[in-house]
Amino acid sequence: AKDAGKNTWYFFVPAFQEAVNSRLRLEEEIRQGLLRGEFHVHYQPQFDERGHLAGAEALVRWQHPEHGLMIPGHFIGAAEQAGLLQQLDHWVLVEACHQLAAWSGHPVMGSVPVSVNISAVQLHQGDFSTQVMGVLAETGAPANLLMLELTESVLVRDMALAIAHMEALRVHGVRFALDDFGTGYSSLSYLQQLPLDELKIDQSFVRSLPADTGSLVIIRAITALAESFGFDVIAEGVETDAQHTLLASNGCRYFQGYLFAQPMPAEALTTLATTLPRN
Ligand code: C2E
Ligand code: CA
Ligand code: CA
Ligand code: CA
Repeated sequence: AKDAGKNTWYFFVPAFQEAVNSRLRLEEEIRQGLLRGEFHVHYQPQFDERGHLAGAEALVRWQHPEHGLMIPGHFIGAAEQAGLLQQLDHWVLVEACHQLAAWSGHPVMGSVPVSVNISAVQLHQGDFSTQVMGVLAETGAPANLLMLELTESVLVRDMALAIAHMEALRVHGVRFALDDFGTGYSSLSYLQQLPLDELKIDQSFVRSLPADTGSLVIIRAITALAESFGFDVIAEGVETDAQHTLLASNGCRYFQGYLFAQPMPAEALTTLATTLPRN
């Protein structure tokens, strides 16, 4: 037993130390990456039922000098641990608004709304709505083309504060989507209090289509709920024709997923947009 304890100790410490070291290294690299301009925003197009471009979601990417293109799952957690998520998210918002301003006047992209993911640390800052208004003013982005994506977990932390910020921004035309809808555990009654424009059906329900009838029941319930509240419904993670058809025939009007397009640099989306059917 003594030996086992000793072994555990010797094996545990180096492994733990290594985990701490690699976390610290990642935090330092994120800090440096922000300074060196290694972060980028990719845009994933969203389509309506006629196949027309209806929007684009801004998704952060990290062009790491050694590891190549990294997706948020590889660094958002570390950024949050390091207290850098707020800074990263602010950078993404500014970048997306610069892009919105750059697109304004473009024959196609000039009328395409851009969605930006908002984290809890960001929203729960006392001056969130003032900050967003500041970014819109500095960049010249049209407020009515900015959509902010919030999750239930972000909202329930302080519902009254969240609503106050949403109302303040809505006056200027900013719109709001409830992301990953259907995965939260909170009561649905908050839906009637929230000034929302769109519900995004979580990928987990879409992924299990067409086989899983349980997911289809939930999707039907979500589209019915959205309709009665006057919210648009978008499905994300649409990968197959079968999923697309089933979603469309069950009340979903907007779609995002690899079936249509992957997230891509702004220039690539501009090029793609000019080849798509027009409104
Ligand atoms: P999300 O907001 O739910 O974003 C959708 C994710 O699904 C994106 O992953 C997108 O690339 C991926 N996706 C799109 N279509 C498909 C599909 O057909 N199949 C599959 N399997 N996946 C698809 P991504 O870019 O890796 O982002 C992951 C998550 O990281 C996002 O989930 C969001 O929660 C977070 N995130 C991304 N950008 C930001 C950001 O700027 N700030 C914050 N706070 N979070 C961000
Ligand atoms: Ca999102
Ligand atoms: Ca989502
Ligand atoms: Ca998600």
